Amino acid sequence: AAAAPAAAPAAAAVAPVITGTLVKVNVSLPEAAQRAAATGADGVGLLRIEHLILGLNKTPGWYIENNAEEEFIAELYGGIKTVLDAFPGKPVWVRTLDAPTDEFRNMEGGEEEPFEHNPMLGWRGIRRDLRSPEQFRLQVEAFKRLWAAGYDNLGVMFPMVNHPNEFTQARAMMKEWGVDVENATLGVMIEVPGSALMVEEFIQAGIRFASFGTNDLIQYTLAIDRNNENVADMYQPKHPAVLRLIDYAISVCRENGVECSICGQAGSDPEMVTWLVEHGISSVSANIDAVPRIREAVARKERQILLDAARRNA
Ligand code: PEP
Ligand code: MG
Repeated sequence: AAAAPAAAPAAAAVAPVITGTLVKVNVSLPEAAQRAAATGADGVGLLRIEHLILGLNKTPGWYIENNAEEEFIAELYGGIKTVLDAFPGKPVWVRTLDAPTDEFRNMEGGEEEPFEHNPMLGWRGIRRDLRSPEQFRLQVEAFKRLWAAGYDNLGVMFPMVNHPNEFTQARAMMKEWGVDVENATLGVMIEVPGSALMVEEFIQAGIRFASFGTNDLIQYTLAIDRNNENVADMYQPKHPAVLRLIDYAISVCRENGVECSICGQAGSDPEMVTWLVEHGISSVSANIDAVPRIREAVARKERQILLDAARRNA
């Protein structure tokens, strides 16, 4: 009888490798790209495009209604390219549009935006991308042209996800529109408790990275409106429930060799970043002004981890 085929080799246990925590920078306006790059940051962990798009004073829907798609794509392409050019060879993660509907209301085309009692919990982030494919497609077209122009350091990050199906769906749409999704760097923000709890399934769905959006993760975990001064004192970035969710998601990412990062405001707090490095985060992304002190906090914590390990082995 023919010999049974050899069993597939078991996946080698991945030894933890100390590679150094990357310190990246957040960018919200292309005009800030040079200043951000001058910090020497290891890349852009969050490039917001809301300001770029809100600054146009017309809704994405307006461009579609008025057959001005090319104009919209060109604005987006140019803005993102400015940032990519400032970070040659370094990863730049662009987040898809994440403006709540009320911020579009007073613009041209704003009358078409749905009225929502609670826009922060409404039609924003990936929900808008999925339910408005023609608007999502304009963004993807800009990304596609940048990839085609050789910017392979461009990654795309989806905000407000809470179920891996959303990621799978968005990726399938991108594939249909001609994106080489197998080789594109696509990831998600973890800013809803549901996505932190589902991180393993997100990894199975193929995310290349996950990044904590703590500004929202805190408000949704604790039910504290991040913009409501009546409860501002209860908005606690280091609440044990928030830390527990983060710790869990980091450990799942590490077990699976997936880059895990933070791009919320807590990533600009040296104390929080010290905690994150201790718990194994792979990169942090800070505000431009905070990069030096975050680099310092990371270096100090890493030095301590290495010294402790060396002493243990001595
Ligand atoms: C966050 O939620 O932490 C985040 C970075 O996104 P934004 O502040 O734009 O909601
Ligand atoms: Mg957010």
